[in-house]
Amino acid sequence: MDGIEYLLSNINSINGIGAKTASLFKKKNINTIFDLLWNLPRDFVDRGSIYSINQLEIGKVQTLKVLVKKYNFPRIRNLPNRVTCEDPTGKIDCVFFNSYEGYIRKILPLNQEVTISGKINFYNKKYQIVNPNHISSDLNSINKIHSKYSLTDGLNEKKYQKVINEVLKSLPDLDEWLSEDMSNKFNNISWKSSIIQLHDPKNFNQKGNFLNRLIFDEILSNFLISSSIRRKIKKIKKTKKKFDDQPINSVIKKINFKLTKDQLSSIKDINNDLKSDRKMFRLLQGDVGSGKTIVSLIATLNVIYSNFQVALMAPTEILAKQHYSLAQKLFNKNIKIKLLTGKTEYKDRKIILDDLSRGNIDLLIGTHSLFQDKIKYKKLGLIIIDEQHKFGVKQRKKLSDKAGADCDVLVMSATPIPRTMIMTIYGDMDTSIIKSKPKNRKDIKTYSKNEKNINDIIKFVDKQISNGNQIFWVCPLIEESKKVDHQSSIKRYEILKKIFKNKVGLLHGGIDKIKKEKILSQFLSKKIDIIVSTTVIEVGIDFPNANLIVIENANKFGLSQLHQLRGRVGRGSKESFCILMFKSSLSENAKKRINILKSSNDGFKISEEDMKLRGYGDLLGFKQSGLKNFKLADPIHHEDLFILAEKEIKKIEAKNENLDKYLTLLKLYDRADILNDII
Ligand code: ADP
Ligand code: MG
Repeated sequence: MDGIEYLLSNINSINGIGAKTASLFKKKNINTIFDLLWNLPRDFVDRGSIYSINQLEIGKVQTLKVLVKKYNFPRIRNLPNRVTCEDPTGKIDCVFFNSYEGYIRKILPLNQEVTISGKINFYNKKYQIVNPNHISSDLNSINKIHSKYSLTDGLNEKKYQKVINEVLKSLPDLDEWLSEDMSNKFNNISWKSSIIQLHDPKNFNQKGNFLNRLIFDEILSNFLISSSIRRKIKKIKKTKKKFDDQPINSVIKKINFKLTKDQLSSIKDINNDLKSDRKMFRLLQGDVGSGKTIVSLIATLNVIYSNFQVALMAPTEILAKQHYSLAQKLFNKNIKIKLLTGKTEYKDRKIILDDLSRGNIDLLIGTHSLFQDKIKYKKLGLIIIDEQHKFGVKQRKKLSDKAGADCDVLVMSATPIPRTMIMTIYGDMDTSIIKSKPKNRKDIKTYSKNEKNINDIIKFVDKQISNGNQIFWVCPLIEESKKVDHQSSIKRYEILKKIFKNKVGLLHGGIDKIKKEKILSQFLSKKIDIIVSTTVIEVGIDFPNANLIVIENANKFGLSQLHQLRGRVGRGSKESFCILMFKSSLSENAKKRINILKSSNDGFKISEEDMKLRGYGDLLGFKQSGLKNFKLADPIHHEDLFILAEKEIKKIEAKNENLDKYLTLLKLYDRADILNDII
């Protein structure tokens, strides 16, 4: 068995592990030897070094050499026996809850020096160890320093130690995949030594070359895949789109606002891609309400005038409809635009498919149904995907392949994330970012309110309605649950209906699609004024008339999610509000988080702060992105290593290096299969 095979082999190939023990490891998601290496120590025990009492650390297991000074055996039920010990620097009590006097006198003889070991507590202004677990006058009889791992029922510490020690002892030497330069940066520490150091109890919570190297490996393996996809796509030659500014200018004349600087530069990026002879594979990133739709519509024009078709895919029917009516309003009548959704009637659908295959449709707008196998385009030249931040790298690659060489691809995402995360999640694409918001946009005024003041909130809602405005009211759960104390949307709906009668609509995951769309269009046409919902109301829908969003149990949401929810109002020029409701008074930490939201309307800043507080894994929608696979790397805390990896990738690309050298790395981090897919 060569090195990598050993690492990827089943855990039961380790000496002494049978099917039964293997099944215990499986419970902890440890299947292979490699998995075992990533069950990281959660603490360590150091019984080997002797500490004096003035060096003790509360909560740690430590060993000390002390003199037994005084017994205290209270002989009262429930009161423990105590033995006071000392060394030249202080005093400590050994506390025994269930041990007999005779036993205690035997192991801790008065006026003798003993070595004790256990977890250090501080109680009643005194150090103490409860039931010290190793007592001996001979240090050598104490099991020295070792790492502690999280275990599971049936898998005890001793057994676990045996297994991990065995594995660490037989770790294979792997051929170095890092370049000499990089390896030097980490002081030439090998992968194997890094892993050994990672498990060394002395390194617990320590940083160093060993850790940086392992983090770098992980980032590099991710970037290598994106890079090879990007390289492959960049090689694809396509028919250039012909270019003319006239149609763009005619659309710009029709809109009643000035495009922002970032909108203009994104349009320029896209246009340059379209007119080049290489396939476009671009991400357009911009906070909610930053104006991506108009950018994407402008992008379609020259594609259409070059006699290609365009497909624009929105995540929901209602959003598709909005894009459709906007395009109809802005585009010249000779451009043929159609809407195709799951709801399109069979006979209309048939006509659309027929027209599409004959090239009688220029722009097709719809939902995911646009890419079903049955749908044949005559000459597809551009695909635009709106709000699909849940598309993983594999799905994007598939989409690009399916679209064919002449078809450019533009993906739009509304989740503002730091650059390191863009590099990680969208490393296969070129990116354009819209950071600046439209000038007329007023910041959304954000308040936090205790639920006790619900009557004030209702008065405020009433005032907004009489001013002709509309309201979103968001609750975290669908139905009342005894376990979770969230306000249910159904209950809130009932309450609001009593006050505002038939002006209230309800939306949650349990309501079927047709009804949902109906409620949303009633809201759009102002037949209802309030929508009570769980978080199902999609990002992206443009309701310029909604200017107030109330969010109950706001502390149950992440900041980025609150920001996204808040972004559903304030899309017009009206003054807009967001009220965050809380059940009880806020903790200091919660106040800090809410203050970030109150003081900023910048999604990029909010997401960064949020990640600092909660870790990147919680960030909206990124669970499926593959980022979760990182074992050590963190885009916020290891920014320098991400940038280092980016530079290294550029060098690899410049040399047009073959990826064979990195195959072991990719196999280890379970990315080799993606590579197989793309080569
Ligand atoms: P998103 O980026 O979230 O998709 P939209 O494209 O839906 O945002 O735009 C939100 C609103 O802002 C729309 O009503 C749109 O007409 C308007 N808008 C877009 N660009 C500008 C601009 N430069 N100035 C003023 N309003 C704009
Ligand atoms: Mg949008």
